[in-house]
Amino acid sequence: HADMAMYKAKELGKNNYQFFDCDMIEVVTRKSLIEQLLRTALDKNEFAVHYQPQMAAATGDIRGFEALVRWDSPERGPISPVEFIPIAEEMGLIAYIDQWVMLQACRKNVEFQKRFGRPYLMSVNISALQLKQRYFAENVEAILKETQMKPEHLEIEITESVLIESLESSVAALWKLESLGVKIALDDFGTGYSSLSYLKVLPIHTLKIDKSFVQGMTSASAEKAITESIIDLVHKLGHGVVAEGVETEEQLALLKTWNCDFVQGYFFSKPVAEDQLINLISDTNNGLVAPN
Ligand code: C2E
Ligand code: MG
Ligand code: MG
Ligand code: MG
Repeated sequence: HADMAMYKAKELGKNNYQFFDCDMIEVVTRKSLIEQLLRTALDKNEFAVHYQPQMAAATGDIRGFEALVRWDSPERGPISPVEFIPIAEEMGLIAYIDQWVMLQACRKNVEFQKRFGRPYLMSVNISALQLKQRYFAENVEAILKETQMKPEHLEIEITESVLIESLESSVAALWKLESLGVKIALDDFGTGYSSLSYLKVLPIHTLKIDKSFVQGMTSASAEKAITESIIDLVHKLGHGVVAEGVETEEQLALLKTWNCDFVQGYFFSKPVAEDQLINLISDTNNGLVAPN
């Protein structure tokens, strides 16, 4: 933003600083507004959880769902997690949000299991900042106990780029979760750095290939080679792999050729609210969700 403003200012031959300042003020104001609204959002019940199904690539059988937080602010309308999660992390609020999401998601998963007569996996995103908090694993255990959800039906998704900052304490927390029986997925794989060293020290069950690779796959040969190789590597390490952001039949076909285990993306379904999810499961009889 700032760069663009500077550029524009220079181009117009006007006072750079004026342009630069205006743009910065806008960014700062928006951020402080979000900070202010975030402080009360949880208490005011402004968050919701949406669910996106994950399917077995080969059969279309539903493996489970990823829980994704949604925030509809009465003052500002819907605000994307891409925007507010980093701010919540900075403010130290992320643990409250993530635990609230986990509680809702586990409750729903137990309901779905009763309703549909079979278990599903529930994947929940956890800010890696939380892993260094002392009682993280204990809190997860408490949520499982309260909701009566089996630990093996919970998968925790962590994004590798944040892990590096506190690797030692994060590793300890992840091993505690692993000993409870909870599954661990490495999210957005390929976008961070030193990805491969994590595979040695972390108790990973699942790897999620970032959507930027999946979406570049059909046109760019580098993305194609990378995606195919990641799938191969993950299998050789004995883990499962999920491809994120699958939007086309062509992408699905390639992933199937390479024996990718699971797929998730708009081709099957966007993240949906609970009632829509129930319809979706019922309609598809647990099979491949019809493209919309
Ligand atoms: P993520 O964990 O990688 O989640 C996948 C994101 O990709 C979601 O965006 C989802 O809506 C989007 N997506 C799924 N399929 C497709 C597709 O086919 N095409 C495209 N273009 N996008 C697709 P969303 O819901 O906006 O979430 C963004 C990020 O915010 C998440 O990325 C995750 O890192 C974070 N996030 C979401 N919910 C939570 C939460 O409860 N706690 C924490 N800590 N982070 C969360
Ligand atoms: Mg995720
Ligand atoms: Mg994530
Ligand atoms: Mg991801």
